[in-house]
Amino acid sequence: MTERLELIQGDITRIAADAIVNAANSGLSGGGGVDGAIHRAAGPELLAECRTVGRCPTGEARITRGYRLPAAHVIHAVGPSWWGGDRGEDELLASCYRSTFALMEQHGLRTVAFPAISTGAYGFPIERAAPIALREIRAALARRPELERVTVVLFSEQDLKVYQRALGA
Ligand code: ADP
Repeated sequence: MTERLELIQGDITRIAADAIVNAANSGLSGGGGVDGAIHRAAGPELLAECRTVGRCPTGEARITRGYRLPAAHVIHAVGPSWWGGDRGEDELLASCYRSTFALMEQHGLRTVAFPAISTGAYGFPIERAAPIALREIRAALARRPELERVTVVLFSEQDLKVYQRALGA
């Protein structure tokens, strides 16, 4: 399983995969952080398709095409904002990963790259988010042999180290 899961430092908009995951807001209206970077790299057609999709509740995900991205699709997952940890944040974050894998199965997708959902502007502590993300990714890899590769793309070296520690733990 380990060779099907990779952790890298980089820019997710450069990743060629069947899908990259966007840390979206529930309006699917674009924004800052990784969301803004994905929309800039994909071009205005992405926002136009998002407008036809409508809203997406926290913990769920929606799929669009990737347009000018090297990735074929974008899966827009809406992570929770951090309110201190007692408002279902862990479960909502886990649900983003599960929703993404469910969409991949429906669409026959085999490779995907995730950013560290909710750990930027939404304030979810990455030390708590990493084990949740890795648990859900490992569960999906164990359950679905058709998944070829899951890449987690960390923007900073520090975030990569947090994930590497969580993977080893
Ligand atoms: P959220 O609102 O879900 O917290 P952010 O985009 O603010 O989303 O942050 C999520 C994570 O994405 C953060 O760790 C941030 O550093 C990272 N990030 C920002 N830009 C990129 C990018 N181009 N590629 C990969 N990760 C990115």
